[in-house]
Amino acid sequence: VGTAARLYTEEDPLVILSSSSLKPTVSNSSSAWLVQFYSSWCGHCIQYSSTWKALAQDVKDWQQAVSVAVLDCAQEENFDVCKEFSIKFYPTFKYFRAHSPETDRGTTYRGADREIQSVRQLMVNILQNHTKLDWPDHCPPLEPHSSVELLPLLGQRSDHYTAIIVEEPDSYVGREVILDLLQYSGVEVKRALSSDLPLLDALKITTFPSVYLLHPNASHTHLHVEKKLRFFFSSLLRTLPGVQRRSKSISSSSSGGQTGALPDRQSTEPWRDFHRWKVYTADLESALHYLLRVELATHNTLEGEELKIFKDFVTLVAKLYPGGGSVVKLMETLSDWLLSLPLQRIPYQAVLDLVDNKMRISGVFLGAELRWVGCQGSRTGLRGYPCSLWTLFHVLTVQHDATPTALENTGLEGEAAPVLQVMRRYIRTFFGCEQCGRHFEQAASATLDRVQNREDQILWLWNQHNRVNYRLAGSLSDDPLFPKAPWPSPSLCSSCHEEKNGVHVWNQDNVLHFLRQHYGASNLSPKYSL
Ligand code: FAD
Repeated sequence: VGTAARLYTEEDPLVILSSSSLKPTVSNSSSAWLVQFYSSWCGHCIQYSSTWKALAQDVKDWQQAVSVAVLDCAQEENFDVCKEFSIKFYPTFKYFRAHSPETDRGTTYRGADREIQSVRQLMVNILQNHTKLDWPDHCPPLEPHSSVELLPLLGQRSDHYTAIIVEEPDSYVGREVILDLLQYSGVEVKRALSSDLPLLDALKITTFPSVYLLHPNASHTHLHVEKKLRFFFSSLLRTLPGVQRRSKSISSSSSGGQTGALPDRQSTEPWRDFHRWKVYTADLESALHYLLRVELATHNTLEGEELKIFKDFVTLVAKLYPGGGSVVKLMETLSDWLLSLPLQRIPYQAVLDLVDNKMRISGVFLGAELRWVGCQGSRTGLRGYPCSLWTLFHVLTVQHDATPTALENTGLEGEAAPVLQVMRRYIRTFFGCEQCGRHFEQAASATLDRVQNREDQILWLWNQHNRVNYRLAGSLSDDPLFPKAPWPSPSLCSSCHEEKNGVHVWNQDNVLHFLRQHYGASNLSPKYSL
């Protein structure tokens, strides 16, 4: 079986097992495992793979308690191990308890057509079937707490938040939210039952599920959640001030329950206050500053295809950057100059001279320093330029939609998705992060031709950006203060989120509406800008 036939790749948020890794992975493990033994030639397995990937994505943050894996029995090297584990039909689903012995061949469950929600609930049940002796090392308690345990916590100071989810006995929301928050520090989630009358009385809870929040400073309140859905509860708790994703980049020792707005900052830059629902021109200007003065500087000369890509980029920004002003003047001048040159080859120094000197004389200049605002990181090296580049291109897709004729007579008007095509070429050619460029190019070559109009263009970039967010959540480039998560969060746009068969889905019409507003000219703030 060639790689082309494989249903899962390293990019998927699950573990791909093989004959040599199966036993060492699932036996004596600190977490439980759920393994799909499939065959890449079985039609049902092919159909089911998208569900399995979506499940793995849905429970990615549960990994330390229960992990999702696959093993391809159609691969020759796996024939023996599939036989040893008695796999007769495909797909076969098995789970392995945490700390199971090497002799364990797993417990089979029926599941070939199970929906995500039902597998997810099965995973919760698997966890709860553990005993005290083999309980997964990093899995918090999933049993409900009683008023006797919870009420004494009221009014007590702590170094973290405690969220109490009160729910009906058959609800899975509480346990799912506990597991969703497994990778986060600064908040502990406990569940309690709607049958616990003293608790309901004390907390004045009348609807279920509800979440009651005990703050570190001993105050406590009912937490308003727009929609009583798992995703809303989890998102809200993850974005409490001081709650952080446990990042591999930061020692996890003491950052636990900080509640200030700026835990663990290690930057010498002064902090600039900002609102997450605004877009800051200072970030866009800094993007251009970095791009023109740093990123481009690594190219001594611009010629041929590179020069054409750079010209197109400058034209795009000159035509679509909202609000006029210095930036547009600079980019227009740069664009006119580039177009007027008969040369096929321009030394980079000439571009820099124009940006730095000639423009300054005529009073048009780009900020001479980087000033991150919405793109500030909790320490140097996080966020900044890549954040601002995404922001710039989101703004340009929205502006192209708002001013459809802006690109006329530029040579770009013939393309179905001019902003994305220019972005794709720029990223491929100039963006310093080579691996990012490769990923982006892969995505573009797979799906960009489906973009038919300006609305698709806005949504394609949003969707692609979210795919990157999913992939990078918890990675080294994830700033614990701004953890990567599906965006916009429910607190930015609650109508963007819905649930279908227990699984989170986007309301794309509302997302589009939100993006137009968020990245639209009237939401740009000039604060901290020159
Ligand atoms: P960013 O992801 O940079 O987002 C910036 C801001 O955009 C957020 O603060 C939020 O306000 C908003 N936002 C977030 N999601 C969306 C969305 N879906 N739609 C609209 N707006 C949104 N890093 C890697 O390690 N590996 C890669 O493969 C990789 N690929 C990249 C590809 C491109 C084209 C770019 C520009 C960057 C890439 N990066 C990659 C960098 C990475 O995506 C982040 O930009 C970087 O880690 C900084 O993250 P951040 O927290 O500032 O948020």
